[in-house]
Amino acid sequence: MPTPSSTPDPAAVAAAATAAEAAARLGAVRARLAAAANAAGRAPSDITLVAVSKTQPAEAVRTLAALGQRDFGENYLQEALPKIEALRPLGLVWHFIGQLQSNKTRPVAEHFDWVHTVDRVKLAERLAAQRPFHAPPLQVCVQVRLEDEPGKGGATAAELPAVLAAVAASPRLRLRGLMAIPPPEDLPAAQRHWFAALAGLFTEARTAHPDMDTLSMGMSGDLEPAIAEGSTLVRVGTALFGERLQSGA
Ligand SMILES: *Cc1c(COP(=O)(O)O)cnc(C)c1O
Repeated sequence: MPTPSSTPDPAAVAAAATAAEAAARLGAVRARLAAAANAAGRAPSDITLVAVSKTQPAEAVRTLAALGQRDFGENYLQEALPKIEALRPLGLVWHFIGQLQSNKTRPVAEHFDWVHTVDRVKLAERLAAQRPFHAPPLQVCVQVRLEDEPGKGGATAAELPAVLAAVAASPRLRLRGLMAIPPPEDLPAAQRHWFAALAGLFTEARTAHPDMDTLSMGMSGDLEPAIAEGSTLVRVGTALFGERLQSGA
């Protein structure tokens, strides 16, 4: 039996509900960001919102893009590359925020606009050599390890100057700033302590690299203390897309 034209198509109804939910989540995150900026006496426009779309389908990215979201973050190359390819006509800005192995730098150099997880001189050298000449310089944040936990990603404070110098030395890379993922803390004051430590390293590093303008810190659970301590870029997944089904490493 043909569907009468007055009966809404269930797929269209579901898509509209998804879009409405995405709009509500994006609005709520933007409101949190603006409130935190205002509380710190800062302009909300000085803080970039990167939507972390790991484990989310390309359609979920498309929905947020239609609402005006431009910057997206991905952790896993295998799922990121097909999404970037499928959404290329949208002209989005892609940030690589996953752990970077030195044998996996080429697809990052070729397909991403930003990388936030450079923590060794060798990675900077490989990305510089592999960045295609027709592309603008790759925008780089150096990842810092704040706690004394060997094996976790990030340069220590002692290693930081050499990594910054390696990034700054290449015309194929543009040094933008620092990034960190602090250890999880229950108390906002404890979270703030880690963000303040990164902000201190940022201020220090800017004496040698005054053009750095990006402090990449703050996620769904802690964007307020991050912004209070000077974050200029927050990386938000769960609060925009809902809980991830697959666990993100
Ligand atoms: C997954 C991830 C995020 C987003 O975390 P949420 O808590 O979902 O907002 C931010 N930064 C990095 C490096 C991540 O891996």
